[in-house]
Amino acid sequence: MEITSETKTIALIGHPTIHSRSPQMHNAALRKLGLPYVYLAYDIEPSNLKKAIAGMKALQFTGWNVTIPHKVAIIDELDELDESAKAIGAVNTVVNRNQKWVGYNTDGLGYLQSLQEEMKINLKGKKVVILGAGGAARAVGYTLAIAGVKKITIANRTMSKAERLSEHLAQWTETETVSLDSCKQAIESAALLVNTTSVGMHPHVEALPIHPNWLHKDCMVSDLIYIPRETALLHAAKQVGAKVHNGMGMLVHQAAIAFELWLNHKAPIALMKEVLDHSLYESKA
Ligand code: NAP
Repeated sequence: MEITSETKTIALIGHPTIHSRSPQMHNAALRKLGLPYVYLAYDIEPSNLKKAIAGMKALQFTGWNVTIPHKVAIIDELDELDESAKAIGAVNTVVNRNQKWVGYNTDGLGYLQSLQEEMKINLKGKKVVILGAGGAARAVGYTLAIAGVKKITIANRTMSKAERLSEHLAQWTETETVSLDSCKQAIESAALLVNTTSVGMHPHVEALPIHPNWLHKDCMVSDLIYIPRETALLHAAKQVGAKVHNGMGMLVHQAAIAFELWLNHKAPIALMKEVLDHSLYESKA
């Protein structure tokens, strides 16, 4: 699509941003719908965040995505937060609402939409084990809690972080914490195990966050990692007959929700998925 004096700007800010596939995904969607916007990526050092945000506001950006390490620091630069960003304590999407800069978090809802689309799981009254207690665990934990799960067990390498997250999520559901090497019992009665740690991510693809013998066919396994497409954890889960779900759907859905917040236009999800799939997996084949 031709760039003209009327083209508006949306962006990703992070540090680094070089590996992000968001520009390909969003620009393909914008082109398909013929919308006069362009999506760019900016690598912003934390020390430049304030200046960068002031510039984006002055340039009347339509909005932007925020990734590591700015998801928490950005909050101080915004006028308002929606409920999910407040509850999660981090922002991944900013929208210009008539000069009011509003922060959202689409990671949790993106995760839930992907899980429901691919796994058709009814979460009401179910027990869930979350491995990890970082930013992604906060988003996923909050969303699963308000979706009505009965209990969330958090297993993390650093117990103090697991305990902090457990106390936070206890506002919405029953919670407990265990160490990563003692979550066997919690997995036995869980319907869903979610890996939000980075263990198993490229290039350390052989690594598993827990002992694979603890997996069983009645516990679906979801891994937020999308490179590789099938982590060692998902591979082990398949071996015991469990249903599996990887992080690619979350990546697409969180982007589609952000797209709709900026543009008030339904996102072409199938196209975004296709572009992402090609750029993550096929272009490497
Ligand atoms: P984060 O805030 O840095 O948290 C990382 C988590 O991984 C922490 O719980 C950390 O434990 C744990 N961890 C790291 N190395 C470990 C190791 N060697 N052994 C055990 N635990 C380890 O990162 P994040 O933003 O939550 O992201 C976590 C993962 O989710 C990444 O793989 C990321 O790519 C993925 N993710 C995917 C999507 C998606 O759209 N699919 C979105 C967001 C994130 P400690 O607390 O002990 O350090």
